Amino acid sequence: MNIQDVHSYVCGQWIGSDSTAREIHSAVTGELIARAGASHLDVGAMLEYAQTKGGPALRKMSFHDRARMLKALALHLGQHKQALYDASFATGATQRDHMIDVDGGIGTVLVIASKGRREMPNDTIYLDGPVERLSRQGTFLGQHVCTSLTGVAVHINAFNFPVWGMLEKLAPTLLAGMPAIVKPATATCYVTELCVRIMLDSGLLSEGAVQLVSGNLGPILDHLGGQDVVSFTGSAATARKLRSAPCILDNATRFVAEQDSLNASVLGPDAVPGTPEFDLFIKEVQREMTAKAGQKCTAIRRIMVPEAHIDAVSDALRDRLSSVVIGNPADEKTQMGALVSQAQRRDVLEKAALIGQEAERIFGDPDDFTVHGADADKGAFVPPMLFRCNTPDAAQTLHAVEAFGPVSTVMPYRDLDHAIELANKGEGSLVASVITHDPEVARQFVIGAGAFHGRLYLNNRDSMKESTGHGSPLPHMVHGGPGRAGGGEELGGIRGVMHYMQRTAVQGSPDLLTRIGKKWVPGATEARDRAHPFTRTFHELEVGETLVTDPREISLDDIETFAHFTGDTFYAHIDEAAASRNPFFPGRVAHGYLLLSFAAGLFVQPDEGPVLANTGLDNLRFLKPVQAGDSIRVHLTVMQKTPRNQDYGEVRWHVSIRNQEDDLTAEYELLTMNAYAQPDPAG
Ligand code: NDP
Repeated sequence: MNIQDVHSYVCGQWIGSDSTAREIHSAVTGELIARAGASHLDVGAMLEYAQTKGGPALRKMSFHDRARMLKALALHLGQHKQALYDASFATGATQRDHMIDVDGGIGTVLVIASKGRREMPNDTIYLDGPVERLSRQGTFLGQHVCTSLTGVAVHINAFNFPVWGMLEKLAPTLLAGMPAIVKPATATCYVTELCVRIMLDSGLLSEGAVQLVSGNLGPILDHLGGQDVVSFTGSAATARKLRSAPCILDNATRFVAEQDSLNASVLGPDAVPGTPEFDLFIKEVQREMTAKAGQKCTAIRRIMVPEAHIDAVSDALRDRLSSVVIGNPADEKTQMGALVSQAQRRDVLEKAALIGQEAERIFGDPDDFTVHGADADKGAFVPPMLFRCNTPDAAQTLHAVEAFGPVSTVMPYRDLDHAIELANKGEGSLVASVITHDPEVARQFVIGAGAFHGRLYLNNRDSMKESTGHGSPLPHMVHGGPGRAGGGEELGGIRGVMHYMQRTAVQGSPDLLTRIGKKWVPGATEARDRAHPFTRTFHELEVGETLVTDPREISLDDIETFAHFTGDTFYAHIDEAAASRNPFFPGRVAHGYLLLSFAAGLFVQPDEGPVLANTGLDNLRFLKPVQAGDSIRVHLTVMQKTPRNQDYGEVRWHVSIRNQEDDLTAEYELLTMNAYAQPDPAG
């Protein structure tokens, strides 16, 4: 059989393994299939290449450029999925498992890319939060900004997700403008290598954005500094060793860790046998135990059920687990493949034996089970193993030792507080779930257990058809957990990008902050000498340009007409005596929505032009009542411009409505879509 030489990609070159390479065996047949690792990688050159080529090329691109690159990359990978599936069977994974790893990885990149385009500016500076007013007159303000770190992100990944594990870290890193050195776990690095080859062959990645180390990482961590980031997924023992490296400690190098996690799933007190929740719970637990043969950092390790129903749950789980077909992952009928390696099999059996000291195994005998289409002795197969512990308060191991395979323990709880106490005994996990239809149970669980878990997954009859599964980290939501789970956090939309950027508090005048963030700040200069902004194309408009309208007096008749036309006859607008008794109003006042409508009437230029649509309004505040006899006038200022597609972009306008005294009566941000070109009447 052909033994693959898994390469590393270093300073723009593919480099093969050498005599120090480690051997990789098929999880299914036990055959030697690949070698990976080279001792002669020049780590200094790799870091310099990333810092001098990768970083600068990425930082020249705006967030939107990087997001477009990621989207194209994901679409390209989507065209090569089959090759990734084919390579992945030897890791022991089934086609269903590939969907989690390969399709899940590609989907994650697409979501991060889309969020980058929608939630980040077309710029290289990201504004974090609102402007802070630091002075009485508003001439000195504060704004938090985020800029790309100038070092390199070193990603050390676990064996269980060779594609998703790389992409879920890579997408936020590249969007942040940071180059990465990816170090996959050796056991499955041949799949990651293929994925990197596909990405590089596309020609879509900017130079130096990604390097790959297959096999041993070498001494890279000894050369990292304060601008670098290590993002690690794996065991707590390795995390401890790596994060305490002197160089990491001395330079306060950021270290993000996802490690062991004793995830819990709780059957709600209301979810008695016969309810849809009970059946849902059994399905979720079985799926989480057997997907990826339990080699998921988010798999359910501890199953907590009301003591009255522990027999029913145990029986139902045994029943479902007994129908799981274990075998050759390439066979379509197989529901659970092999563990990744014989070493992992030994590890899982050792850990299961430890759990067996505190709990009784009620399903799955590793010495007696059927493997279909593969040799049970040569492949790294184990059966699903379900344990039952009737005394979970006294137990230690099953709350602390993670058997990284299809191993889980069912245990009884007395009441919800007890369930929370047991769930929290894991001392920090990536996810805990509660299957309940009772909103009060959900709330009490979130209050009692939130601090111990990175994600809480709640499911019931209302959400089960569309729910994404206890074990699926989603790019929109944070993935990570406190304590034993590593104290790290990844993903969570744009939050995940921030691990690779520096947040800086910037203080200065409105004009300086406007220029820095390319977003107009109240108090900054208003350019008032331009043509009406509705006549100017997206590209012609400049941040800060302002239209100040003529005044318009509000009459009692206006208020009456508006009230009866819209049906908004709220007493404060039509009943003088009642309005006067209201502490907020001096008497009858104009409707806030009347002010908005009249404001539009004042600032709109009605002719066909580049403004295509009004798409929304943010941060509306009514600040001072307007009465009949007052007059209002509007300042309409271009606040921010964000390209949306090849034809138009979004303009955020700052709108302030002032009365005859120049007092602010209302303020908001208006969103419009504006064309890049003037309309063509002939077209
Ligand atoms: P390891 O901690 O052994 O390895 C994780 C990664 O770290 C691999 O890429 C590994 O590379 C690398 N690594 C190991 N030692 C070093 C070192 N000295 N310097 C640099 N890199 C190093 O975990 P495994 O992947 O073997 O998984 C073991 C256990 O980790 C599982 O049984 C499970 O308990 C836990 N785990 C937790 C996950 C989570 O997200 N919570 C996910 C996956 C695993 P190499 O493969 O080359 O040794």
